[in-house]
Amino acid sequence: MSAHVAVSMIDRKSVAVDEERAWQQIVGRDAGAEFFYGVTTTGVFCRPGCGSKRPLREHVRFFASAEAAKAAGFHACKRCRPTTARVRPLEKVRAYLEAHADRPVRLAELGRVAGLSRFTVQRMFKQAMGVSPLQYQRALRAGGLRNALKQGASVTNAIYAAGYGSASRAHEGAALGMTPARFAAGGRGERIGYAAERTPFGWMVVGATARGLCWLALAATKDEAEASVRGEFPAAELRRDAALKKWVEAAVRAVTEASATRGALSLELPLDLRGTAFQLRVWQALRAIPRGETRSYSEMAREMGMPRSTRAVARACATNRVAVVVPCHRVVGAGGALTGYRWGVERKRALLAAEGSF
Ligand SMILES: [Zn+2]
Repeated sequence: MSAHVAVSMIDRKSVAVDEERAWQQIVGRDAGAEFFYGVTTTGVFCRPGCGSKRPLREHVRFFASAEAAKAAGFHACKRCRPTTARVRPLEKVRAYLEAHADRPVRLAELGRVAGLSRFTVQRMFKQAMGVSPLQYQRALRAGGLRNALKQGASVTNAIYAAGYGSASRAHEGAALGMTPARFAAGGRGERIGYAAERTPFGWMVVGATARGLCWLALAATKDEAEASVRGEFPAAELRRDAALKKWVEAAVRAVTEASATRGALSLELPLDLRGTAFQLRVWQALRAIPRGETRSYSEMAREMGMPRSTRAVARACATNRVAVVVPCHRVVGAGGALTGYRWGVERKRALLAAEGSF
């Protein structure tokens, strides 16, 4: 992984990019390289992995950050979108495998997804996960992995539980920072507090673990709102917690106040989101849609670098447990039409109207 050695040598604050090595990474379209390059003839800057026409060496300038490239007067390339948050190739590959668990995915296809050779994909995946992409897929399809994940095992442990991978890799899962991928069946072993309150959008109920918000639903009545918590987490230890009403109020402000920013919101409302790597990526992308804007499912898939995964993105949006704060209501049909909403299309219309985008 010599490319990654080069990456770690780039100090983000300095402009000391090793230019000769960087040029070789541009020539090789190395998606793992973490610098940027501007092309003086077009005024555009790219990531080294960009698929656009290779510039002449003498027209290239190197930058350690997108900010530095912009400050030098370059515009972000529309093809490689160098200013959008970068998803590490390993995460891309895992998310892609999970999104396409219903069919075999070849290494060459994964290579295209990650922008790496299929050999690099194989080696990188095995090194990080302890299993090859093929074994990971088999585990996903066999259902064993899915079941283990449902029971709250970490992804890595789930792979072992499903009979794949070697125990010597056990410690590396922790290094990847994976949390239990899903709530154990019905929230068993979890203590969840909840509070319901009337809002302009109907009754809103929040549920929270010690880590943060794990449920936010809208309903017509208080009973219906509270029942939704029991319905989602039937095996959890549930108790009313009036202190959580301030979270309902914060969630309402996220919709009704123009000044509500994502940064302020995440301070006020810690989240305990659990799902597959793919679901978490989609929910993260939802949180990046600013108040007052909407996206279509295909736009989201494109922004996530998976233009052919529109349906998988839509499915992940539909499984969102934290309405409003993870704003799945900001996703609309390709023509701007309101599409389905887990908590009712009328409520989606009201939320978007309050945000000034309907
Ligand atoms: Zn580009």
